[in-house]
Amino acid sequence: MPLLEVKNLKVHFPVECGPFGRAREFVKAVDDVSFDIEPGETLGLVGESGCGKTTLGRAIVRLVEPSAGSILFEGEDLAALSGAELRARRRRLQIIFQDPYGSLNPRMTVEEIIGEALDIHKLAEGESARRKRIYELLEAVGLDFTHAERYPHEFSGGQRQRIGIARALAVEPKLIVCDEPVSALDVSVQAQIINLLQDLQQERGIAYLFIAHDLTVVEHISRRVMVMYLGKIVELADAKAIVNSPRHPYTQALLSAVPVVDPQSRRQRLLLPGDVPSPIHPPPGCPFHPRCPLAEPLCQTVVPSLHEAAPGHKVSCHLAQ
Ligand code: SF4
Repeated sequence: MPLLEVKNLKVHFPVECGPFGRAREFVKAVDDVSFDIEPGETLGLVGESGCGKTTLGRAIVRLVEPSAGSILFEGEDLAALSGAELRARRRRLQIIFQDPYGSLNPRMTVEEIIGEALDIHKLAEGESARRKRIYELLEAVGLDFTHAERYPHEFSGGQRQRIGIARALAVEPKLIVCDEPVSALDVSVQAQIINLLQDLQQERGIAYLFIAHDLTVVEHISRRVMVMYLGKIVELADAKAIVNSPRHPYTQALLSAVPVVDPQSRRQRLLLPGDVPSPIHPPPGCPFHPRCPLAEPLCQTVVPSLHEAAPGHKVSCHLAQ
């Protein structure tokens, strides 16, 4: 059984209210998205900024409310839970953010930040057990007990991300949504954090939904990758298949922009015309058709389904069979 099964998830934000407070239009940030994550696997999620990937990650941990669909976690629908029930289940489902500084209380020491997570879920009884657990968590993320009494502003960006990871680990999660966790870090620090996440996954069997706009980062850490455009998944396959034989024209364009070391393997750069359309008024038919170099008349009227074009390789394109 998958650890997480997302079915037909929609997150539509109202943007204009009528005379009686009724929403007239909606931003379709996430529009009918379905996928699953196996225990212990990393599923990568890529797309340009504004494509809906961050909203999707936050909807899964219920930081934003889904408009429709289900989020089955260990077989239970999180979208249907509220209050204490939701808080209890959410322990197993954590999130780490692009800007750990923004999510760490500047008035709390590291010990208090991590200890708070333990206290909420009553995971350490007594002061000495609590402190021992905090020190273990610091060690697990490459810090040590000397950091426990310090405040977030005393750390570098990479160290702050480690604190955010320690806080997530404190509650023994089975899935962590990693929302662009390395995008704000230097390249050398990015590699350290990614290696840390991989080591923790091997030790603890944690699954990740790893969100990034950089396909090379996602490919490195993920077993499978899904590509999002204008609120929809347009391609989902093994990471190697996405990189070596992308089938959706949008994925091909994303890959053509990735710099490569070997000039022999350089792809021809595909420049997409125009900007990403508004998610309030997405184009009819295939949402990518105004920018697609392969668009046909059919693409302007008929929405392509996300279908299996090859075993394990799903694509949302009329031309991908
Ligand atoms: Fe391009 Fe048509 Fe395929 Fe959409 S369905 S990606 S417009 S070829």
